[in-house]
Amino acid sequence: MSAYIEQLIQTIADRNQGEPLFTQAVEEVLHSLEPVLSRHPEIESSNLLERLCEPERQILFRVPWEDDEGRVQVNRGFRVEFNSALGPYKGGLRFNPAVTLGMIKFLGFEQIFKNSLTGLMIGGGKGGSDFNPKGRSDAEIMRFCQSFMMELHRHIGEKTDVPAGDMGVGAREIGYLFGAYKRLINRYELGAITGKGVGYGGSLGRKEATGFGCVYFATEMLAEHKLQLERKTCVVSGSGNVALYAIKKLQNLGARVLACSDSTGTVYDAAGLDFNALRLIKEIERCSLSKYPMIHSRAEFRPNKKVWEVPCEYAFPCATQNELDLSDAETLVEHGCKLVAEGANMPCTPEAIHLFGEKGVLFGPAKAANAGGVAVSALEMQQNATWTQWTFEEVDQRLQAIMKQIHKSCLFYANRYGQPGNYAHGANTGGFLRVAEAMFEFGVT
Ligand code: NDP
Repeated sequence: MSAYIEQLIQTIADRNQGEPLFTQAVEEVLHSLEPVLSRHPEIESSNLLERLCEPERQILFRVPWEDDEGRVQVNRGFRVEFNSALGPYKGGLRFNPAVTLGMIKFLGFEQIFKNSLTGLMIGGGKGGSDFNPKGRSDAEIMRFCQSFMMELHRHIGEKTDVPAGDMGVGAREIGYLFGAYKRLINRYELGAITGKGVGYGGSLGRKEATGFGCVYFATEMLAEHKLQLERKTCVVSGSGNVALYAIKKLQNLGARVLACSDSTGTVYDAAGLDFNALRLIKEIERCSLSKYPMIHSRAEFRPNKKVWEVPCEYAFPCATQNELDLSDAETLVEHGCKLVAEGANMPCTPEAIHLFGEKGVLFGPAKAANAGGVAVSALEMQQNATWTQWTFEEVDQRLQAIMKQIHKSCLFYANRYGQPGNYAHGANTGGFLRVAEAMFEFGVT
């Protein structure tokens, strides 16, 4: 590692103490930029990397709300506006009790490069709260969302900062958030939030976009290596928005998905998972996957077990960060897994990724493989700007074209900077260079 990068990583770790997810994400990107730095000394002399690793703005706020028993609860709200070189800050909101400023910074940092890779005009940001929506009534969720927006509305807007959903924030929450925003600003500003319901300005295909996009990206990787999805066995971790629609697309393309998971355990169905049963349990009833064998008695629920124990040819981590560690990677390799494509953000630990590289497992990094969600969010903004709505087919075709282009860019940049075939390297350098060029042209900002 170059002395400059080593020193920079140390400076960032010192400045962001107690934020290991953020420093993990920064280290991963900075390591892969070494070959770029040696060809572009102006990056070091203008201190561009240090500027890139410091958010443009970090907003922290109190979110007081009343629960159904009339007790006043207090949560913490976050919005990290990380980089606006390529457009308005763009990135989802996460509601989860584990949310901290460091987690939001890691997600916002990743978002800069992901959004850049899409080729669209969107900057990077992320937000959320340590609020736990699980077990809360609809009325409590609504009061929380309204209180959250009471502060957030000052900072967002269609040309400023455009939030969307993430873990714990789906169609219901986006509806409450948009309703509160509209009332507070007294304008029907559709493009200020994405992931909206299709009846009031949302895009057809947005709900499916991250999962579908991840599978489109994997299909490109496989085609590049003369492999295919048809009749192959897959496992998908999680059973939320990303996982469900990855499962659906995998099945549409002829793969057999043997297992998926949630925070309570793994469901294994040798005949192939039933998408409609999963959707009913997770999207509609919001229950534990332990209910799945009540619908299909042939299936087995394994409490507290990870999905990686189920032998498969291709694996799709679509749940949460650092959910696939070295020992999980060893298990996958032992079972002959040939491809891992990340639907979630940073689900594989650095040690797991290293092992995949050593063992020749194709690895599709989150920045590229899960960029379909934000890409269709940007298409939602385009539709909103012209007060139009495209068909599902049109959105899906554009999504496929974008995922194809991202795949091409990854290979192009990996090759150009001396790491042929390394998708993670290509995603980092390709995503970085577009942002860096804009930042140069803006001067010291
Ligand atoms: P959801 O909240 O819809 O779903 C998350 C799923 O992961 C739930 O099924 C949850 O289980 C499960 N889960 C959480 N922790 C674990 C764990 N430790 N082991 C197994 N399962 C777990 O979130 P999304 O699907 O929207 O997001 C998933 C990931 O994808 C996140 O990393 C997110 O940042 C990323 N992402 C999402 C995008 C989107 O458009 N939604 C876009 C790009 C990235 P339970 O139901 O029990 O809570």
